[in-house]
Amino acid sequence: MEPLDSRDRSVGIDMGGSWIRAALGDRNGKIIRRAVAPMDAGDADAFIKQLDALIRRVAGDSLGEVTGIGIGAAGRLDLKRGAIMFSPHTCLRDFGIASELESRTGKEVRLLNDCATAVLAERLIGAGRGCDNLVYVGIGTGIGGGIIVDGRLILGKDGNAHEIGHMIIDIDGRIACECGGLGHWEAYTSGSGLPKLARHLAEGYAEESPFLDCVRKCRPNAKEIFDAAAGKDRFAVHVLDVASEINSKAFANLVDLYDPELITIGGGLAMKNRDLVMPPISERLPAYSFNRAPRVIPTPLGEDAPLLGAILAAYGPAGTHGV
Ligand SMILES: [Zn+2]
Repeated sequence: MEPLDSRDRSVGIDMGGSWIRAALGDRNGKIIRRAVAPMDAGDADAFIKQLDALIRRVAGDSLGEVTGIGIGAAGRLDLKRGAIMFSPHTCLRDFGIASELESRTGKEVRLLNDCATAVLAERLIGAGRGCDNLVYVGIGTGIGGGIIVDGRLILGKDGNAHEIGHMIIDIDGRIACECGGLGHWEAYTSGSGLPKLARHLAEGYAEESPFLDCVRKCRPNAKEIFDAAAGKDRFAVHVLDVASEINSKAFANLVDLYDPELITIGGGLAMKNRDLVMPPISERLPAYSFNRAPRVIPTPLGEDAPLLGAILAAYGPAGTHGV
């Protein structure tokens, strides 16, 4: 086998809600070297230095020869300016990440939403090969989506055509989202949302349970909710049942909007708790969608889906808009 030409390599960055993942990879989706760090997004200057260091750690001596850098970033973007306009889980506001990194590395930087890069990876090297109508849903700290309709990656005027986590699923707006909006999907069932849903449901819950006590006295995180539900605590099971109902209805909205053949699910929360998160969505979705229900499966790319897509996005418009 021929050794890979180092100029055929690229660097991918996945900036989710909590972690930055960086990797040196190739256009077949092979990862050669990777690094991960908790996101240091207290201020933009510290963040860009951290990002620059991670890129150099994975690229090593071959940074000068890589094809480019692809970024999949959570938050509201302005793709024409290569900027992150608003990122609910960090302090980044109107931040020109592409030009900052281009001046530091001398490499062309291509920015997309993290779930847009994930659906790109799904289409090119994952479960969506040969599939023209495909949705990827990432359920992690927040909820994001990447959408391909009729073989085209949907982007919109600024690159935010798929901000599905901020879709309003509760018209009474009973729970506030990290973005400041009310009633948004991710405020109820994401890693940051589930604890808020548990506190909301605790107010009117008539029976007693050890976990209900815990919710009233402290602030359990999403992992503790899943742990309690796995231990059959009645209240924790109830919280996840309500969350599954919300997820199923939100997925039905996606099916009716985009008419996909396939929906793949990724994101840290869903991948770590797949037996509790995914089967109820597949089971309940057909009852709620007007359109014919698609196949719903966990992404075979695992938590690497956005990172792999960022590596592929670095190869340019042919790899992004022409999927
Ligand atoms: Zn929101």
